[in-house]
Amino acid sequence: MELKVFKWNQDSDGIVTLTWDDPDRTMNVLSSIAMRDLGAAIEKIASDASIKGAIITSGKANGFCAGAALDEMEGAAAGGGAPKSHEERVKAQYESMVVFNQLFRKLETCGKPVVAAINGLALGGGLEVTLACHYRVVADNPRIQLGLPESKVGLLPGGGGTQRLPRLMGAQNALGLIMQGTSLDPKTAAAQKVVHKVVPADQLIVEAKRWIKETPDPVQPWDKKGFEVPGGKPNDKGASTVFTMGNALYRKNSYNNYPAQRYILSCVYEGLAVPIDAGLRIESRYFTKLMMDPASRNMIRSLFLSMQDLGKGARRPANVPATQVKKLGVLGAGMMGAGIAYVSAQAGMEVVLLDTTQEAADKGKAYSVGLLDKQISKGRATEDKKAKVLGLIKPTTNYDDLKGCDLIIEAVFENREVKAGVTKKAEAQITDKAVFGSNTSTLPITGLSEASERPENFIGIHFFSPVDRMQLVEIIMGKKTGDYALAMAIDYVKAIKKTPIVVNDSRGFYTSRCFGTYVAEGQEMLAEGIAPAIIDNVGRMTGMPRGPLELADDVALDLAYKVREQTKKDLGAKYEAGPADTLIETMVAKLGRYGRKNLKGFYDYPEGGKGKKRLWPGLKDIVKFKVTSTTPDYVEELRKRFIYRQAIEASRCFEENVVTDPREADVGAILGWGFAPYTGGPLSVIDTVGAKTFVEECDRLAQKYGKRFLPGRLLRDMAEKGETFYGRFKPETKKAA
Ligand code: NAD
Repeated sequence: MELKVFKWNQDSDGIVTLTWDDPDRTMNVLSSIAMRDLGAAIEKIASDASIKGAIITSGKANGFCAGAALDEMEGAAAGGGAPKSHEERVKAQYESMVVFNQLFRKLETCGKPVVAAINGLALGGGLEVTLACHYRVVADNPRIQLGLPESKVGLLPGGGGTQRLPRLMGAQNALGLIMQGTSLDPKTAAAQKVVHKVVPADQLIVEAKRWIKETPDPVQPWDKKGFEVPGGKPNDKGASTVFTMGNALYRKNSYNNYPAQRYILSCVYEGLAVPIDAGLRIESRYFTKLMMDPASRNMIRSLFLSMQDLGKGARRPANVPATQVKKLGVLGAGMMGAGIAYVSAQAGMEVVLLDTTQEAADKGKAYSVGLLDKQISKGRATEDKKAKVLGLIKPTTNYDDLKGCDLIIEAVFENREVKAGVTKKAEAQITDKAVFGSNTSTLPITGLSEASERPENFIGIHFFSPVDRMQLVEIIMGKKTGDYALAMAIDYVKAIKKTPIVVNDSRGFYTSRCFGTYVAEGQEMLAEGIAPAIIDNVGRMTGMPRGPLELADDVALDLAYKVREQTKKDLGAKYEAGPADTLIETMVAKLGRYGRKNLKGFYDYPEGGKGKKRLWPGLKDIVKFKVTSTTPDYVEELRKRFIYRQAIEASRCFEENVVTDPREADVGAILGWGFAPYTGGPLSVIDTVGAKTFVEECDRLAQKYGKRFLPGRLLRDMAEKGETFYGRFKPETKKAA
């Protein structure tokens, strides 16, 4: 028997240790080769009388198994290989799931005791393998994560997770874990009966062998006569409420946009009512249904594969050797500068945090104290760690302290002159190799770089607020920005464990520009006379994190008014005024309603931030509400307006070369402004609908609601040729043009 990713070792007691160590990957995954190996090993364990039991463990220092090989899965579900009909693909997918589950079933019914000795993270399929073992022992390391995170990428656990986990811990607990994709540390997992025992790392194999020799039991609980599901079967009194509540909660939280979560509920409900073999077939059917749904494939692509590629620096110029930011200068210790200092010090960088007064600089550092204290209170950091991180941040007003910085990021006021001033002062202190990054949210990078002596080393590094929580960083190439600056910016973003997208210079860059269309469409709807509660509710139902009117209040209405006025001036006769212009003008210029910042916007806000906000009753005096109730079709039309308006803007950014890689457009949208994640991103929306249908729909919307819906040349060309974004602009490693 030849194994490629497992090492086989049989000791003198007849105990086989299978050490999983895929030579071609840094982390073990359930690839087709791993499955083939596992099948051969189980065959041998079952049939060889000299084998008394087996242990499955990992040879990787960083984990046991990270789950399914999503790269293989996405290709197969999309119909990779020879062209197949839909029916053939469904059949092939279902059959492959049945074979997969039979393998795990064979493992747990092979007649020999099998132990999972879990020495690192076991997620998704990685945890499912261990659930098919008879005994699970985990190393005592709180950093080890055990869980089924599939629903986070639009999938459900297809290796028996929806069947075995509820049979171990009851439906209620299992549903909580599977639907939210939560992972547990070893001790919590043991308390919740996911694993049997937690032991010191060096005792893992000792304990596994002890169990096989002293108390082996090669029969799973659910294969024993008289087995009862903990907490009862779905129709039992008490247990049934789990499902009625679960269903209600699912709808409340997801607006029914996420089929994976709905199917997980069904798998558990239907599967617990029947024996495990039938339950596994039910799970395979739902899994197949999900894999055939383009929404799931889009989610896997954007939320996993693309994010992983970008996180690894897919857009990094290959010709520049690796760079490392050891010392970082942050100019401006306000909301953004303080956050940037915190995440950078967390990553081990020495940070100089500079402001105009020592008091302001100290206040910026104090922000890290607050965040670290919160981490400590949650048990996620120690006093030692706090001291270490804080020791790396030097608050100052002295530019001399910037000497030796590899990278500077300015986050001073959004004012061209102020930014030019700090650029010159900082550049006087740093070497020619150092890179200067600006965190501006609106000012074009090419213009800002005019203040620099070395525009090739000047780049946009645009963070999102709050910096410690937002995963995306938008890197902006000015006209003269060079490869070295791009490479360093990407290396830095990787080092602080965030996801970079690289875009070209333009007003609002990519994210702010597209996000603005969502907020603007909400205002157009209001100006048309659609009741504001309908607008914000449909916004959330569409999968956006908040309604457009509440977001407009947060961003500030006076700012939106100023931007509109500026755009009007810039575009002159080309500016297409809409009903929302008058609305915003009235709100800001006549009524002084600036949004949350002065507690008066589309909503009224309670003094002191305590209590709930309420829609401002006076709105009805400035807008005549014509639509105060809706039909499902009408809701669908509003949803379409929200999604299509943003997708058209994303396609324009593509046409104008602001974004050049579909992965960045999609990932940037989801991580940057919360674009409905279940769609896979705005370009995935267009590809899924099909450019031709999308263009026809946009023409219809343009006729009905205004020219803002008119598709551009690129979309029309793609519609004519039947192209997709991911086909026409095949993602590859490249530098922004
Ligand atoms: P802020 O007003 O909270 O902080 C700005 C800080 O810069 C203040 O502490 C101020 O004292 C300091 N500063 C001003 N002039 C200075 C100078 N000459 N030298 C040194 N320090 C100086 O603003 P913020 O929200 O942190 O925004 C900073 C930058 O980040 C702006 O360019 C903004 O557009 C951009 N940005 C903001 C957000 C956001 O959500 N707030 C998001 C992305 C980008």
